[in-house]
Amino acid sequence: MESWDLIVIGAGVAGLSAGIYGTRSGLKTLVLDEKMAGGTTADAPSVENYPGFQKISGMELAQKMTTHCRNAGVAIHEFEQVMSLDLKSEKKQVKTNRTVYEAKAVVIASGSHYREIGIPGEKEFRGRGVSYCGICDGPLFKGRRVLVIGGGNSALITALYIAELASEVKIAHRRDMFRAEDALVKALEIKKNVEVLWSTEVKEIKGEKLVNKATIVDRKTGETKELLVNGVFVQIGEAPNSQQAKEAGVEVNEDGYIKIDIRQRTNIAGVFAAGDVTNHPVKQIGTAVGQGITAALEGYGYIKRPYHYK
Ligand code: NAP
Repeated sequence: MESWDLIVIGAGVAGLSAGIYGTRSGLKTLVLDEKMAGGTTADAPSVENYPGFQKISGMELAQKMTTHCRNAGVAIHEFEQVMSLDLKSEKKQVKTNRTVYEAKAVVIASGSHYREIGIPGEKEFRGRGVSYCGICDGPLFKGRRVLVIGGGNSALITALYIAELASEVKIAHRRDMFRAEDALVKALEIKKNVEVLWSTEVKEIKGEKLVNKATIVDRKTGETKELLVNGVFVQIGEAPNSQQAKEAGVEVNEDGYIKIDIRQRTNIAGVFAAGDVTNHPVKQIGTAVGQGITAALEGYGYIKRPYHYK
């Protein structure tokens, strides 16, 4: 069985940061990801709030972090899927679709996935007009009509990106104010081809081969309308990728986020968690990086017990 000091599950920005700090601390460190390294950061059309980078595409930032991590000496195994975890003993085991690894400490940085809205038509038209990723599918809607659902940062970032491509963008938000940050709200206000449908719920997505309509309801008046749209981007938040950790005995909260203390420790000794999979209330690239760093340094302290570790 291949042995490592530290295994990091997930090569998003939290996992890559943990990888850099693990290796630089002298730990033999492996980062695993079932997809390409970069995590959901790579899906962001533009990142404008990560200090030091006034405006950078999420893909470029993710690639820079991945290259940094590799050059630091971290082994990054992409497209290797974790199948199960055995975390309770001193030697942790990580079973993947290729092999079984052993580690002295584990950092879970498995991130989150886009939440589905659960309305009729969503599943049927997924990939045929329904999307969860603006940067992946936005170019398919050049010159077309797009509806974005949600009122947080993701919805506004997606709407702003798609407004550069689509002929018109409508944002359906169930409230009469956004929860997205002020800078995004202001950027949206000057977009001529974006309209916000306040207090609006989307009830159904319709089409033939491809999406061509969405049924919306005004929550204040109860009025129902059909909008002509070619694409619907569901941007209503995220859910944690914590199932395997939970099955291995890691404690999660009522929404499935891994419970951590201020030092990124979980309820199991030698198991740490970082980034969007945790119950930390702020989900930002900067906070995920900080959590990844803390988790790796705590992993180092747990394994090596240096004189300054408390
Ligand atoms: P979010 O902040 O949780 O916002 C989700 C939005 O979707 C809310 O406006 C919510 O409405 C709405 N919503 C939720 N369930 C719904 C439903 N069933 N039907 C209709 N609308 C629904 O999610 P997010 O924007 O994906 O962001 C996730 C996290 O990542 C946040 O912490 C966010 O700050 C962070 N993030 C940061 C950046 C950045 O800073 N650049 C970019 C992306 C994401 P209500 O407002 O009524 O609850």
